[in-house]
Amino acid sequence: MNYSFEPIGVIRSPYREKFGIPRQPSLVSAARMRLELLPPYAQPDCVRGLEAFSHVWIHFVFHQTMDRGWQPLVRPPRLGGNAKVGVFASRSTHRPNPLGLSLVELVSVSCDNGVALELAGADLLDGTPVLDIKPYIPFVEARPDAVGGFVDGPPPLLRVEWSETARSHLAELSPPKDFILLVEQVLAQDPRPAYQDDPERIYGVSLYRYNVRFGIAGGIARVLEILPAAQN
Ligand code: SAM
Repeated sequence: MNYSFEPIGVIRSPYREKFGIPRQPSLVSAARMRLELLPPYAQPDCVRGLEAFSHVWIHFVFHQTMDRGWQPLVRPPRLGGNAKVGVFASRSTHRPNPLGLSLVELVSVSCDNGVALELAGADLLDGTPVLDIKPYIPFVEARPDAVGGFVDGPPPLLRVEWSETARSHLAELSPPKDFILLVEQVLAQDPRPAYQDDPERIYGVSLYRYNVRFGIAGGIARVLEILPAAQN
């Protein structure tokens, strides 16, 4: 039996490519995004009462990777990229049905110009199709006694430093509010693939319209340059 679903909304996010997006929601609180509802759901009635909730579940499609199929075993980054677990014991994007589920903070609901939710801390790529929104119900869903398997606790964080060049670029570009915090929270997560540890290597992460170039050595992420994305 087949089921087909249509998006009820789309995400507008500072994350313009997969690299650098945190591996789960809540890890980068400075990531602000909009969930814009699509017709015929872009009507105030569909979100009436939602503003009373502080958090929502977002059901979405891993649209950028869905054509890559799936495998029964995956290598979670938290296990160093070597050990394998079953796809259903993981949060891998490569799943039989490419569906994602993120618990995110609901900052506000706007019905002024269309209907949009402002969200904080989501782990979603720009353009992500959203299939459903549900309010988070703490008394049912908050389980402090739960056991987190191989991801029992947050990942260790890197320290983040800025080069003089990066600081001067910031001054010239006047990026969006909270951009510095966003960069620091994203890099502190260590976006490198699990098997990479080359202190000479320079990486780039796309945030808003900027390419943030950085290196990682000795537990410190150093921001080297902030370039307009058009110069990539
Ligand atoms: N919390 C979600 C879940 O468990 O369903 C996502 C977990 S998944 C490991 C998080 C990663 O999904 C992010 O780091 C990002 O690389 C990737 N991602 C986010 N939006 C995506 C999209 N629209 N298409 C493909 N990959 C996406």
